[in-house]
Amino acid sequence: MVVLGIESTAHTASVGLVDDTAKVLGVASDMYRPPAGGIHPREAANHHVEVFPRLVEQALAAAKVAPKEIDAVAFSQGPGLGPCLRAGATVARMLALSWDRPLVPVNHCVAHVEIARVLSGLDDPMLLYASGGNTQVIAYARGRYRVLGETLDIGIGNFLDKLWIELGGTFPGGPQLEAEAKRGTELHPLPYSVHGMDVAFSGMLTAALALSGKGIGRPDLAYSVEVTAYSMLTEITERALAHRRGSAVVLGGGVACNERLRGMVREMVEGRGGTTFAPPRALCVDNGAMIAWTGHLAYEAGGSIPVEESVIAPRQRTDLVAAPWRGS
Ligand code: AMP
Ligand code: MG
Repeated sequence: MVVLGIESTAHTASVGLVDDTAKVLGVASDMYRPPAGGIHPREAANHHVEVFPRLVEQALAAAKVAPKEIDAVAFSQGPGLGPCLRAGATVARMLALSWDRPLVPVNHCVAHVEIARVLSGLDDPMLLYASGGNTQVIAYARGRYRVLGETLDIGIGNFLDKLWIELGGTFPGGPQLEAEAKRGTELHPLPYSVHGMDVAFSGMLTAALALSGKGIGRPDLAYSVEVTAYSMLTEITERALAHRRGSAVVLGGGVACNERLRGMVREMVEGRGGTTFAPPRALCVDNGAMIAWTGHLAYEAGGSIPVEESVIAPRQRTDLVAAPWRGS
């Protein structure tokens, strides 16, 4: 069985194809980069509409798959930016109708867990999902994925991007801050905002900008921000882990490409005798292959819907949707 997946929750438009074994047959992605400042939902959606026809062709060509060999079409239903989600859902509906194939809605956050789960071979890992708009610690329990901890304000990636743009840089800030942080040596204190298993970043943004105003250079600032923010994420992951039987943690989301974050989580998990895994970069960031794979799991569990019911769900929380393929 081959499933085609469409991803368009935020700045990345992506099409991916997978088979029954989660083998990624082909992926084609294009990320919207705002000329200045942060992401504007409608401009990102316009970008997606423009690039999707080419991405579908490229993904099919990379996979060496003909439309008639595709068994189902999956799409990111939410959470995400309304106009962006609508662009992807429209493409998915059109493909499902013209190829006469079932349409399968997928929760974007669940897809990050499922691609990491199948690639890692770990049966029941917890996910630290650190992306632009989302920051959550997610684990499966009784029929669905539950959010054990999350950000109370902005996503970690949005925080890093905002900070970098305020410092005069361009989007996306995370990877550029990572490069700066490697040259930093002095740790400046910043608000460490952990509330039980939740975190918050807006106070750190204000404080970091104040430090910059006092003349602290980018390398030390980036170093201090990374160490503080990633310690917070590692702490809530450890606290959530303490409530679970196993000690397996997988990572997902663009910020999970960060080497310092990967290293800190690995050290914590291995210290507890557990295992950790992060997918390769292309499958850590938003991508159509994870949507296709989760669509495959959902389809086999009876998860296709009529096109008339395929509304997008910009605020669909991880714990709102059932995961019947996981059993009880
Ligand atoms: P996503 O929303 O999952 O597509 O991820 C995009 C976010 O990941 C953006 O906020 C980026 O700044 C951030 N990001 C990507 N690579 C890195 C990195 N190496 N370190 C920190 N943040 C990163
Ligand atoms: Mg994501």
